[in-house]
Amino acid sequence: MPARSAALAHAHDLADLVAASPSSYHAAEEVARRLQEAGFTRLDETDAWPGQPGGRFVVVRDGAAIAWAVPAGATATTPVHVLGAHTDSPGFKLKPRPTTGSRGWLQAAVEVYGGPLLNSWLDRELRLAGRLALSDGRVVLAATGPLLRLPQLAIHLDRAANDGLALDRQTGTQPVWGLGDAESADILGELAATAGVDAAEIRGYDAVVADAARGVVFGKDDAFFASGRLDDLASVHAGVVALIEAADAVDGIIPMLAAFDHEELGSASRSGAAGPFLEDVLVRLYASLGADAAQQRRALAASWHLSSDVGHSVHPNYAHKHDPVVQPVLGSGPILKINANQRYATDAVGAAAWADWCESAGVASQEFVSNNAVPCGSTIGPITATRLGIRTVDVGIPILSMHSARELAGVSDLYDLSRVARAFFAG
Ligand code: ZN
Repeated sequence: MPARSAALAHAHDLADLVAASPSSYHAAEEVARRLQEAGFTRLDETDAWPGQPGGRFVVVRDGAAIAWAVPAGATATTPVHVLGAHTDSPGFKLKPRPTTGSRGWLQAAVEVYGGPLLNSWLDRELRLAGRLALSDGRVVLAATGPLLRLPQLAIHLDRAANDGLALDRQTGTQPVWGLGDAESADILGELAATAGVDAAEIRGYDAVVADAARGVVFGKDDAFFASGRLDDLASVHAGVVALIEAADAVDGIIPMLAAFDHEELGSASRSGAAGPFLEDVLVRLYASLGADAAQQRRALAASWHLSSDVGHSVHPNYAHKHDPVVQPVLGSGPILKINANQRYATDAVGAAAWADWCESAGVASQEFVSNNAVPCGSTIGPITATRLGIRTVDVGIPILSMHSARELAGVSDLYDLSRVARAFFAG
């Protein structure tokens, strides 16, 4: 397939993955579903795991998934190449006693999750999605279609709206989802019905609000791709695509995808990058290869973590927010992220390795560094590097509208990221 049509096909496939992933729990299951379809074996953390050489595996922990393929000739010191990404996105999470309302409107009680651009959530049709823990012990996924909306106050009633909109994080963020009396309605019932269960069976829930619109390709020469949750499902998707391709030709390296949850909250959870999930998988993987403690550390000393998360493209209306010289732009390739204060883990050796992987993929790359007067974000790279000591490079694709309900990426960058990920998995 010519690169252009391959890039378009990649973007449309990403739109499918995003639509199937309204919550981190759905994203982890979608990763597992795609990989199982490609011949990966799903493992359960409570089971004994089989011998690994020649196998390909995926394990899901809450809203996170880790998958890997083991060469037939793998030994106790075969290194791992981990592509790290995250499944969660900023937005809103359902509170306890979630059915509220007044003045004839039904509303949902939500908490702010992470750091969304609040105003970007106005006037969009929104889904409710997540997992339900049931009285019979099952945990099921559930997702509605378009159900909610956060309607903006009309300009006639807020003449100052265009002078700088300020939304109250409590009173300004509670979406409507119907008409009637809250006493006789139940938003959990709406969610439960989509999973074929009765609301009375629900003992617990983790449910988020997600943009309902599908990702679209648009712009001159189909350069743009707009979608919810590009941060960081764009990287999760690139990793899945690359791992499926790499799994057929593994040799000398164990390619691995680690899609963590809770990055938007700082990664500190049992399924986040600061938690033990990756280490737990690595310990069991190397035990299955017969590694003793020293051999496992030798393997990890030769390993890499390519931490992929979205970064900032220069914005034509706000170019002064960027470094005056280093100004990555959509469509010119994935970015290498650099920060003197270790907000990104990239160092000289990592930059050189990234250049090699890009070169072998035939992909151009850009750099990102902050303007000194604008605080830099961070991501999973420094966290896993600190936790595990694996050499780490922070990379990603440039986007605009980061943390908006609908973000903007470049079609060619999405495809190029998957090609570099493929080269990374090949060593
Ligand atoms: Zn992110």
